[in-house]
Amino acid sequence: MRLAMSRAEVGDEQKGADPTVSRLIATVAGLLGKETGIFLPSGTMCNVISVVTHCGRGESVIMETQSHLMRSEAGGLSAITGAVPEVIEGEDGHFTAEQLTRHFQPGSRYTPRTVLVAVEQSCNMAGGTVWPTAKLAQVAACAKSLGMNTHMDGARLFNAVVASGESAKVHCQGYDSVWVDFSKGLGAPFGAVLCGTEEFMSRAWAWKHRLGGAMRQAGMMAAGCLYALENNIERLEIDHANARLLNDGLKRLPFIKVKHDHPESNIVFFNLVGTDLIPETFLKRLLDRGLKIGFVGTGYRAVTYADITAVHINDALQIIASVLDELDEKDLIIPSQTTTGAAPRSCR
Ligand SMILES: *Cc1c(COP(=O)(O)O)cnc(C)c1O
Repeated sequence: MRLAMSRAEVGDEQKGADPTVSRLIATVAGLLGKETGIFLPSGTMCNVISVVTHCGRGESVIMETQSHLMRSEAGGLSAITGAVPEVIEGEDGHFTAEQLTRHFQPGSRYTPRTVLVAVEQSCNMAGGTVWPTAKLAQVAACAKSLGMNTHMDGARLFNAVVASGESAKVHCQGYDSVWVDFSKGLGAPFGAVLCGTEEFMSRAWAWKHRLGGAMRQAGMMAAGCLYALENNIERLEIDHANARLLNDGLKRLPFIKVKHDHPESNIVFFNLVGTDLIPETFLKRLLDRGLKIGFVGTGYRAVTYADITAVHINDALQIIASVLDELDEKDLIIPSQTTTGAAPRSCR
């Protein structure tokens, strides 16, 4: 990938004159079945530009409550777009057309008009869950019947493609805007491509420029993304297999409750039970032995990717097992304390 980047033919991306960026856009638009696209530095910028292009200030956008757009973009939705977030409590990150209908508001003297629905494929905070394509199509069709626009955050769309065996086009059919990230499982250092119609993308381009996302010799970065498309999609299956391996190993350990019996893609969530070890302490003990895992509010989160092999997974499981093995009495919740109705220790 580094070699491909160093050899990239480049030009002025702001002027649409970088041949490698143009080739990347045409390739991604083709894969997603959309007219055209724009190259952006990050997925976060794709999301915020999509919302601001679809929605006016004071109009509302519906999304799942744990979505990246809602929780993990430093409030960019409010800070930049002026749109009103309306959240749906989904299941595994998905929601139904029926829920969408219930949250939709046509707008009145009092209520914001709902103009956009955003879905995430796969669902990051739900544990890499994959929307069934039929459900995606139902939500899109329902949104259209209500006169709404549709957006797909496809940060890990190719993980969903590999997990489901269905093409990217099928996943994002019915979605007016959709983007894919190259800096996640696809393993490039940088870059995302947002796609849609010519008309939508020309309005989005103004926001790309306003936010400072119009670039110069970005072909070097686009070459890394093209390399990823050619070489790193099929291998995502290895990441998924490694996530299953990790999950299966975790299920056999004491004090661990995994979120899903079978992870659908490359994300594993788990929690500790029977111990009140706080996340900072647990993570520090793991890190002291060389294992880095995240904690994201709803649980511990481990993500597999190209640099992680099955050997690493076994090492990780051994490290976790050894930390759990060394829990001493003060780390454990004594059953009698939890059954007397006393306040949890952490609240005292
Ligand atoms: C990572 C991620 C983003 C943001 O992408 P960046 O390239 O890190 O800005 C958006 N949505 C989801 C679901 C993500 O996982």
